[in-house]
Amino acid sequence: MSTHVICDFDGTITEEDNIIALMRRFAPPEWVELKDGVLNQTLSIREGVGQMFSLLPSNQQERYREFLQSTITLRAGFVEFLQETQSHGFRFDVVSGGMDFFVHPILEGHVAPEHIFCNHVDFSRETARVTWPYACDAHCSNDCGCCKPTIARQIVSPTDTLIVIGDSVTDFEIAKRADVVYARGQLISLCEAEGIRHVPFETFYDISAHMKGVNV
Ligand code: MG
Ligand code: ZN
Repeated sequence: MSTHVICDFDGTITEEDNIIALMRRFAPPEWVELKDGVLNQTLSIREGVGQMFSLLPSNQQERYREFLQSTITLRAGFVEFLQETQSHGFRFDVVSGGMDFFVHPILEGHVAPEHIFCNHVDFSRETARVTWPYACDAHCSNDCGCCKPTIARQIVSPTDTLIVIGDSVTDFEIAKRADVVYARGQLISLCEAEGIRHVPFETFYDISAHMKGVNV
């Protein structure tokens, strides 16, 4: 039996939500309405985020990269936590609704590309276009964009001990089937509302400390 860690990126590995930071800096004001549509669920994540990116001219792509590379802050203890999971022989996958052009560079040297599952942005046309390599399978009708339950069905073995680390509603479905949930932000109240056992955390040092005390 092996242990498998599935970890969210935006707001979990990083301090902030990077799509919001990017839009706030570069998008015209229409993005706010799209964001609100996603939050109040009149738009699916795929529709809302896809339309937000279509507001960004492709010829500025280097500026988007530089901006995020210079502003993204990793949550305290992440690198140390990663080393601990490696020394325990745990499988560690990042499952993210973020975009490859910022997720991959930030994790370079820490997480191998084959352990990163996220969306792709195509900058070959006039405006940015998100492609969705991990769209919902037949079991999900949520139009997630990056469907975490779909990815979990593909990569998590039923015999694995599953550890889920996350901060929001997109982590909730896989949290339901996890053996251990580490939660921050909105994921805490979602777990509380449905009675799902979880361990609140603020830094990855909290998670490391908790893992030392339990047999996972
Ligand atoms: Mg998140
Ligand atoms: Zn889905």
